[in-house]
Amino acid sequence: MTGVTSAPRKPARPRKGKGEGQWALGYREPLNKNEENKKNDDGLNVRARIENVYAHAGFDSIDPADLRGRFRWWGLYTQRKPGIDGGKTATLEPEELDDKFFMLRVRIEGGQLSAEQLRVIAEVSSTYARDTADITDRQNIQLHWIRVEDVPAIWEKLEAVGLYTTEACGDVPRVIISSPVAGIAADEIIDPTPAIDDIVEKYIGSQEFSNLPRKFKTAMTGHPSHDVVPEVNDISFVGVVHPEHGPGFDLWVGGGLSTNPMLAQRVGAWIPLDEVHLAWKGVVGIFRDYGYRRLRTRARLKYLVADWGMDKFREVLESDKYLGRKLIDGPAPEIPAVQGDHVGVHQQKDGRYYVGVAPVVGRVSGSTLAKVADVVAAHGSDRIRTTAQQKFIVLDVEESKVESLVSALAELGFQARPSAWRRNTMACTGIEFCKLAIVETKARAAQLIDDLEERIPDLDVPITVNVNGCPNSCARIQVADIGLKGQLVMDAEGKQVPGYQVHLGGGLGLDAGFGRKLRGHKVTSDGLTDYIERVTQNYLKERSDGERFAQ
Ligand code: SF4
Repeated sequence: MTGVTSAPRKPARPRKGKGEGQWALGYREPLNKNEENKKNDDGLNVRARIENVYAHAGFDSIDPADLRGRFRWWGLYTQRKPGIDGGKTATLEPEELDDKFFMLRVRIEGGQLSAEQLRVIAEVSSTYARDTADITDRQNIQLHWIRVEDVPAIWEKLEAVGLYTTEACGDVPRVIISSPVAGIAADEIIDPTPAIDDIVEKYIGSQEFSNLPRKFKTAMTGHPSHDVVPEVNDISFVGVVHPEHGPGFDLWVGGGLSTNPMLAQRVGAWIPLDEVHLAWKGVVGIFRDYGYRRLRTRARLKYLVADWGMDKFREVLESDKYLGRKLIDGPAPEIPAVQGDHVGVHQQKDGRYYVGVAPVVGRVSGSTLAKVADVVAAHGSDRIRTTAQQKFIVLDVEESKVESLVSALAELGFQARPSAWRRNTMACTGIEFCKLAIVETKARAAQLIDDLEERIPDLDVPITVNVNGCPNSCARIQVADIGLKGQLVMDAEGKQVPGYQVHLGGGLGLDAGFGRKLRGHKVTSDGLTDYIERVTQNYLKERSDGERFAQ
């Protein structure tokens, strides 16, 4: 071009109504109430107000924007007022559903706990949480009935032993789930624990990532059984051996369930252990900058990955703004037929043993956890791990003490050799405490396990039954053999009663895929046991050799 001058170009202004709220494209103005709240004040800042104001002035003094927004950044959710039936969940205002008590989520990175830490959680549960404690399917422990007045004292106790609730909920990087046998399994490819420590130290509780479009879930495993449900996380690092560079991780992004479930996709890159935090930072940065903030329902990383495709995603990740260099291509990991839950007795690489046990749908209590801590210590161990299947594992047990430990835990209600039903049934929080719930879950699932153990005691295959209290997917219904989505259904007399929409045939690992929602398969809560017995008996009668339930 010669002889032509032009005025400097103004940066393109986002056209009103066209953007999806991506910061990197200039859409910095909040497009909904959640974004507005986050812009008004960083969620992490609410801690000072809890300590200095709300804990003294009580529940009624809490600013609603803090109560239903920023409190989450410190693991606090208001719990559901008791006695409100599921039919009213969608029709009541949030404040009508709020109880004056909180659920408090204690973040347990990689599920790694010492006996002392377990004892402190137990003490907090007994003192401040009416003895409640649930092991979640993201390796956290959740307490209920917490009063805002007690929160500073609880933090003091937890933090004195290295536990915390920072960013346990909210639009932030949530707990990093990891193989519960990291560092001890004989067949482990690589131990991701140093990478978790790096990320936690550098980024958790930092304002760099305290305002993401929505939650961001991370999973890491170096175990060949892929024991952290890597397909359904925003980012996963999955152990693999590179033919030239040795053990490291295959990077997956964009998985997630809830509405519009998607499986994570391989980036096709091999990441060495000491660079995991860099790859993680790059992906979270892309999510923060390009994630869709207009609609909460589109605000997960999976939508961006699906829209961009993997070539573009990798190109942006490698760009100067993020990693600033090319990633190393890597091999795909071998996919296990069944993902590991580590229940049972297994030898560690140092010759000692670990013992995995199954609580009923993750429900425990403070007083029981205190007894577990005593039993663990009495058997010479100091390490416990929670799992992504609502189980826990005791590590470092000498062979001579294994059977005594197994019996002592069984006396507390935790079986190392559980029935297939107990082992493979999970349930979310449900109507007991969750404001989004439509139906009961935990107690119903516990009863279901008892009934099925009686009716089909010798089930010889793992059939996973995941029970959710609403259309969200906290208990991963779409990837269960039998996924149960809580809703109101019609009973035989045409009355609306609590029940479930059934999803059949989902799975993870080799048969990863989402269960089919079968129109006719809606079942009342009362009819659930009969229904599951019927589909299981049909499968047992008609299966061919080696045919899995999901096939
Ligand atoms: Fe609550 Fe629904 Fe999640 Fe269950 S699935 S914990 S009912 S939001």
